[in-house]
Amino acid sequence: MAKDGLDLTVVFYNPNIVPLEEYNKRCNENREVCKLYHIPFIELEYDNERWCSLTKGMENEPERGSRCEICFYMRLKRTMEFAKKNGFDAVTSVLGTSRFKNLDQVNKMANLASQEVGVPYVEIESRKNGMQDLRNNLIKELNLYSQDYCGCKPR
Ligand code: SF4
Repeated sequence: MAKDGLDLTVVFYNPNIVPLEEYNKRCNENREVCKLYHIPFIELEYDNERWCSLTKGMENEPERGSRCEICFYMRLKRTMEFAKKNGFDAVTSVLGTSRFKNLDQVNKMANLASQEVGVPYVEIESRKNGMQDLRNNLIKELNLYSQDYCGCKPR
């Protein structure tokens, strides 16, 4: 996107990630990659308590279940609120790039949050066009940390 000339900012809002050490590791890695590509990076608050209260009772849901929908909604809505307050035109999300995610769930919750906040959501289908290979190459090239679970608990 940056190479296409889009003026973009990366917002890191992942209060779903535990433990805190893991959160910090992923956040720092993201910050470093953004620095390398001269992309502004913003870390929002780590409000894991609010995430836990919103997903209470769904602890045993499988990945791709109802807990994930609430998780997407919370994170995307907060990001859109930030975008609106700071004059951004639109929001997109790398949530749509993971093969472990249900893209319909991501888009459904993103569009709901978008309607509520009034910031357009740009859907991306990055599982096509060799994106997975590009991702794997980048991990190797930059020797990046690659997590083996989503965020709230190890698979
Ligand atoms: S598995 Fe991932 S997307 Fe689903 S609730 Fe946990 S952290 Fe959120």
